[in-house]
Amino acid sequence: MTNIAGNEVMEYRTLGRTGLKVSLLGFGASPLGDVFRKTDPAESQRAVHLAIDHGINYFDTSPYYGRTLSEQRLGQALAGKRHQIILATKCGRIDADVFDFSPKAITASVDESLRRLQTDYVDLLQAHDVEFGGVQQIIDETIPAMRRLQQQGKARFIGITGYPLKTLLRIAEKVPVDTILSYCHYNPMITDMDDVLTPFARREKIGLINASPLHMGLLSERAAPDWHPAPPELRAAAKNAVEICRRGVDIASVALRFCLDHDYVSTTLVGMSRLKDVEANVAVVRARSDPALIQEIRAAIGPAFNCVWPSGRIENQN
Ligand code: NAD
Repeated sequence: MTNIAGNEVMEYRTLGRTGLKVSLLGFGASPLGDVFRKTDPAESQRAVHLAIDHGINYFDTSPYYGRTLSEQRLGQALAGKRHQIILATKCGRIDADVFDFSPKAITASVDESLRRLQTDYVDLLQAHDVEFGGVQQIIDETIPAMRRLQQQGKARFIGITGYPLKTLLRIAEKVPVDTILSYCHYNPMITDMDDVLTPFARREKIGLINASPLHMGLLSERAAPDWHPAPPELRAAAKNAVEICRRGVDIASVALRFCLDHDYVSTTLVGMSRLKDVEANVAVVRARSDPALIQEIRAAIGPAFNCVWPSGRIENQN
């Protein structure tokens, strides 16, 4: 792939057994739903186009992001470009505290997503934040219903997403899925994805997607949103990491590079809506890693390294 400056930049990896060739850097479209802050719709649209020009071909959204706003804006931005990219959306999560993983709800949800995304199929349909559902329902009802949607041609592949690693593992061990998306479990603040999920995904050749390389914005110079679930000690540790980099290196680039170095993850999703972020993040694909700096950052994070927060139903939190 050649970028607009004529240089080779993007790298591609195969997403597990799906055979899809996805860009190492993926476009997280939650910011298009104003999830982190208000975004400029015109700039967001240009950010999507710039990302495509730079060879980013993997786009991730959900009806939940901005309560359908992200899907709407992404659909508009992709007009005429849909077939250049691999499009992933989700189902089951409707609002912060509203979930419905029933076959009826997800079947209706995918039709609505397709309308908003202005397409007749998605490449990947994922059950969104499975820890908020009943594990047995996800296994017995949700995944089979998603397979039926796949047979109908509405989704080429299906997967699951969520935060507690063991719950993702428990589900994937019981019912075949094509992909697993894990977030905030592999970046300079934390690497326990590799203890729990990666060995299984690798063995079963399941496509592994790593999201939130900046720990949902904590590893950046910008203030994290109020809803960020990290407890105060984790936020303080992230501030220490940011401080370490205030000598001419960009913490966001360092964190992203660390994630891109993973040897099994097919695509790392970073949330983007600004042109300058797309430029900065694409540049990281060609940048070198700095293991000594990562060691320094880890020392600055101290005991907060590998710390987690609760997410989902009590029985699914571990
Ligand atoms: P992230 O770690 O990618 O951080 C995003 C934040 O960092 C945003 O505020 C963005 O403006 C900012 N940012 C991006 N590039 C930057 C740069 N170069 N310099 C400074 N700041 C920069 O967190 P995320 O957006 O939550 O995760 C990425 C994507 O992964 C999401 O958009 C979403 O598509 C997906 N995701 C999915 C799930 C799920 O399915 N459960 C959970 C989390 C994330």
